[in-house]
Amino acid sequence: MQNEKITAIVLAGGSGKRLGGSCKKQYRSLNDRPVLYYSLKAFQESPVDEIVLVTNESEYCKKEIIEKYNLSKVIKTASGGKERYDSVYAGLLAAEDCGYVLIHDGARPFITQDMIRESIDAVKKYGACAIGVPAKDTIKIADEEGFAGQTPKRERVWQIQTPQSFSYKLILEAYQQIMREKPKGITDDAMVVEYGNYARVRLVMGSYQNIKITTPEDLVIAEAFLNSAKL
Ligand code: C5P
Repeated sequence: MQNEKITAIVLAGGSGKRLGGSCKKQYRSLNDRPVLYYSLKAFQESPVDEIVLVTNESEYCKKEIIEKYNLSKVIKTASGGKERYDSVYAGLLAAEDCGYVLIHDGARPFITQDMIRESIDAVKKYGACAIGVPAKDTIKIADEEGFAGQTPKRERVWQIQTPQSFSYKLILEAYQQIMREKPKGITDDAMVVEYGNYARVRLVMGSYQNIKITTPEDLVIAEAFLNSAKL
């Protein structure tokens, strides 16, 4: 029988070097709350059953985020690894005994209830899905000398975000292969599934606000989004 339990794995195990400063991007303050708070809160209020948080600052997270804001669905923490895929694998092992996982970047505070609900519907139907948005700009594939090589048809180009959601058995097997073979250049979970040809990953419409806080200007944009939501 299909295990219906849904677990969110929220990643906060990165070093956030591109943002600069001493505080990692996932803990930077956004309207007086850490960036990470917003996605944990969204999963807390969603149909997800449990949350696994991947972090190397578990004491800080417990005290300053999980307990402080009563995020009772966060039942486990796991330690982050060197690469993003090491952190996801640690989260998957900690998640054990669930039917579906939604893997989300803790540095993306603007995940919505609609995105979570639509991810759950799609993963139950297709076994693998990723949130994204159609590219607004024309995208060029550069050649090795830095010249425009190819121009893919814009309507077929998507910018991929998170959550990315999978049947637990499928993604665990796909990650076990990655951990054995360690291919280079794995930047998201859908690629892990594509690498071993485990399933077709369904694309689900996200939002242009679902940005990842990566560089300093992203914090300014994020604050503007939060302030406009209050109007
Ligand atoms: O580095 P990148 O922007 O891809 O990070 C996306 C998310 O993955 C962030 O929330 C970051 O904390 C997390 N991450 C992680 N472990 C790593 C690298 C990134 O948990 N080794």
